[in-house]
Amino acid sequence: MEQVFAPWRIEWVERDEKNPEVDCVFCAFEAEDADRENRVVARSDHAFALLNNYPYNPGHVMVIPKRHTGEYAALPEDELLDHARLKQRTLRAIEAAFAPDGVNAGYNFGRGAGGSIEDHLHAHVVPRWEGDTNFMPVIGDTKVIVEALEETYDRLHGAFGELEGAHESDESGRAIRFG
Ligand SMILES: [Zn+2]
Repeated sequence: MEQVFAPWRIEWVERDEKNPEVDCVFCAFEAEDADRENRVVARSDHAFALLNNYPYNPGHVMVIPKRHTGEYAALPEDELLDHARLKQRTLRAIEAAFAPDGVNAGYNFGRGAGGSIEDHLHAHVVPRWEGDTNFMPVIGDTKVIVEALEETYDRLHGAFGELEGAHESDESGRAIRFG
């Protein structure tokens, strides 16, 4: 028995219908000036860090190149390096904000590997604790999950802001900027 609870996937579908010209949710979030609402927590020249709306654990972040491609080999070197640097910063921010026992970091390329959005690359960075279980099915309450995501956003936003090279935005509703 597996109960999947994903209210944001419904929101994402609705978003696609509202903006038919933008058929990729990652591209839509990257382009919009609504970082807090979209839970974009940090940005660099060629990438951005987005809280996963269906987190395995609190603090589950996706680091996403701006370029719309599902081909890892298609990323030019400067974009690859910029994306890797933002992954480093994401790891440091997660460690500072949550002090996990460990972290999983990686990609799901293709549906056979568990990928859901196949045509826009994204690296998962997931804090882990000894004996943890998948957070969403355990909680399973929309209001609690939304509150948890908002708290996670604030903690990570603060942790990114403490990192070397971070530029605090003037408005608290904006992602932390690097580069
Ligand atoms: Zn895209």
